[in-house]
Amino acid sequence: MTHGLMCSQPFVYSELVQRLKKSGLRPTRQRVILANILFGRGARHLTAEQLHREVRDNALRISLATVYNTLNQFVDAGLLREIQGQGQQTYFDTRTEDHFHFVLPQNGGLVDFPAHGVDFAKLPALPPGTEIDRVEVTIHLKPLGKA
Ligand SMILES: [Zn+2]
Repeated sequence: MTHGLMCSQPFVYSELVQRLKKSGLRPTRQRVILANILFGRGARHLTAEQLHREVRDNALRISLATVYNTLNQFVDAGLLREIQGQGQQTYFDTRTEDHFHFVLPQNGGLVDFPAHGVDFAKLPALPPGTEIDRVEVTIHLKPLGKA
């Protein structure tokens, strides 16, 4: 497994391999490449299509189907969070600690805001035999004064 993208960052590479292993994922070449692109650029939200474009921008070849599968595996392993954006757009969030999102009116982009300070005065009764696992809050915005 020798790839320029990873050889130039041997430390980051081994860190990513450890992170995948700790999450119960075998560090395959494609997973390591995608993890490197995903997590090497700070906290961000991106779609499968955006990640696929970045793969191609790095002169790498991974199919969109594999990108989708890998993103879903990362979500299941707790490395990513899946966020529903505008319409049917699904975003993947590299920040997994508690926070909520605004959806911007211009481009449907997501902006983080802290979960603390948000108060739920009243929650509906839960179906019998369940408890709350986590709460997602996504606030969709529109330009001021627009109907
Ligand atoms: Zn976020």
